[in-house]
Amino acid sequence: PDTAFLPELELLLASPRGFCAGVRRAIDAVEDALRSYGAPVYVRRPIVHNLAVVRSLEAEGAIFVEELDQVPSGSVVILSAHGVAPAVREEASARRLIVHDAVCPLVAKVHREVERHYADGRHVVLIGHDGHPEVEGTLGRLPAGAATLVRTLEEIDALTLPREHPVAYAVQTTFALSDAAEIVQRLAARFSDVAGPRTTDICYATSNRQTAAEIIAIQVEALIVIGESFSSNANRLAEVGRQFCKSVQLVAEPNAIDWDKIPAGGTIGVTAAASTPEESVNAVLEKLGTRYRLHIREIAVAEETQTFKPVEISRGRLP
Ligand code: SF4
Repeated sequence: PDTAFLPELELLLASPRGFCAGVRRAIDAVEDALRSYGAPVYVRRPIVHNLAVVRSLEAEGAIFVEELDQVPSGSVVILSAHGVAPAVREEASARRLIVHDAVCPLVAKVHREVERHYADGRHVVLIGHDGHPEVEGTLGRLPAGAATLVRTLEEIDALTLPREHPVAYAVQTTFALSDAAEIVQRLAARFSDVAGPRTTDICYATSNRQTAAEIIAIQVEALIVIGESFSSNANRLAEVGRQFCKSVQLVAEPNAIDWDKIPAGGTIGVTAAASTPEESVNAVLEKLGTRYRLHIREIAVAEETQTFKPVEISRGRLP
């Protein structure tokens, strides 16, 4: 189409954006399992919080379930990148399921940390969002009462433990960097003996995407974050954007774009959550290109080289 008469639009495209190494590994695990065992392969919970990914795996023969009691005994099941509590693994054994756990190694690291803190006699303060599967999995590593989930400064103030009680904190890998830093600071002021991760539990991918979103949000009139409304890391990106840019929209696909929020002749930013495939980014750019003459500039804040060893699928075994 002749785009010469379309209004101009400067577009700052975040880099890194989209899939992280943990998400890629989890999707690969489902695909490997489909190849090794054949369909159907069951997946507990959305493997990553993205409907396009879920739909395309369904088309290949994956069946998504909420809980393991929906999986026929003896079937192959993949556990999502968000990690699970040990009780889920035990249930899988009891149902004689062939389990492959696609938990991201960076989430598994947080699991080990909280277990170590608990063994050291510390009360664990988990900074995270209630109801998120990663949080459920991490809390599920410890007995009831051994950990408290907090999301706000007020929830730190409300902790009833004595000041001298040894505490430790851990952070949901997709939490907002600046919020976590404030909460940790408040925790350090509230307790005299606080242990925590050497740097942060917020993973490299979350950190890079939030930093890129911030740098772009400062420079644009509108920001499009591509991701699902039920994705934690997508929502955090939108929140980071809103601190610096008045017009932020979180869209999962191009038809959801609110065109009133796109300034003709101005500058917009585009980024994508760690659970968003690059196809969704391309689809959004393509749609924008039907209405504007785009001048795309990639804003790179970091180079990502992180890879993880694949989930071992060929050694499927009955528990
Ligand atoms: Fe792993 Fe971070 Fe990706 Fe979560 S967002 S799967 S912790 S790399």
